[in-house]
Amino acid sequence: MKFLVTGGAGFIGSAVIRHLINKTDHEVVNIDKLTYAGNLESLKEVDQSDRYTFEQADICNSQLMTAIFEKHQPDFIMHLAAESHVDRSIDGPAAFIETNIVGTYALLEVARAYWNALEGEKKAQFRFHHISTDEVYGTLGPVGLFTEENRYEPNSPYSASKASSDHLVRAWRETYGLPTVITNCSNNYGPYHFPEKLIPLVILNALAGKPLPIYGKGDQVRDWLYVEDHAQALVKVVTEGVLGETYNIGGHNEKQNVEVVKTLCSLLEELAPTNCHSRAGGNPKGFESLITYVADRPGHDVRYAIDASKIERELGWAPEETFETGMRKTVQWYLDNKDWWENVLDGSYQGERLGLGE
Ligand code: NAD
Repeated sequence: MKFLVTGGAGFIGSAVIRHLINKTDHEVVNIDKLTYAGNLESLKEVDQSDRYTFEQADICNSQLMTAIFEKHQPDFIMHLAAESHVDRSIDGPAAFIETNIVGTYALLEVARAYWNALEGEKKAQFRFHHISTDEVYGTLGPVGLFTEENRYEPNSPYSASKASSDHLVRAWRETYGLPTVITNCSNNYGPYHFPEKLIPLVILNALAGKPLPIYGKGDQVRDWLYVEDHAQALVKVVTEGVLGETYNIGGHNEKQNVEVVKTLCSLLEELAPTNCHSRAGGNPKGFESLITYVADRPGHDVRYAIDASKIERELGWAPEETFETGMRKTVQWYLDNKDWWENVLDGSYQGERLGLGE
């Protein structure tokens, strides 16, 4: 089968492609615009495979996307390309509207025309999978879990743009019969995560002896999932999920942000080289002494937690990593892959300096 993956140079898309190339016999076409978040170095371990092809393209460019569909004749579309960082959506929502809403609309139309022209078995097996977030459901109180039945109540420009794209995908299914599936997943973490996100930011700032910023009191709860478990779930859904259905994906790992940061600090105490410890000032509290509470983000959701029982029951998926094993692997990966993150921090992966983590 041939998979066309949009956003394959990003954090989750690259995990999906590494999974498809390393663990299956499928072919992959990676479509990515290479925004600041796209990094082809995340695909180094698979990019020599003759089952892998890269096409640099913007999903909003319908003409180019049509030509790519015609050239590669994909069986499955996994649509991950998006602007994904909530803070950036607050500072500049326009790119989120453009890529996440207009881009998804454009891709749906290209996919619909392509699917309409297919025939026989190729047409019957075609699927369009939209990869989305649990943030579309808004925020939870201290109890309860997001199920697939929750109403949409997005609070940030990012989550509103993803909610809109989910609605477009649903409408293309209901109106035009396009064979679609949607997944809504909780927060991911793991290798190759761009250092503007909480977990890599904390690891890299701690190693550099810089402050570890936590919004508000750090009591916001997120449900963490190791990215390779997510990649496995996504491939299961696109190949085995019931058309027209939505599946929530989560790791049963509800943690307050402050707990996440303290877990990272203690893993670094154990795993990081001793010269990094001295940068924390030799303080008896070690890396935790670098924690700095900063003004809360506007519209910050209090708690997300996923009920993943539908995908577990109907598709037999379960995460392999616990929070403890996944976090340990993640810290060790950042310690072992300095070249990858140094190239991101100094901008050399894109030829420009981003000044992240400051
Ligand atoms: P990411 O920001 O790391 O990667 C996004 C990728 O999309 C980048 O490679 C970027 O270059 C590419 N891209 C952006 N605009 C594009 C365009 N117009 N055309 C083509 N490519 C474009 O994001 P991620 O964390 O890997 O998230 C992937 C998807 O999963 C997103 O749709 C996101 O909403 C969703 N999601 C993310 C999480 C999470 O915790 N990271 C959780 C649930 C769902």
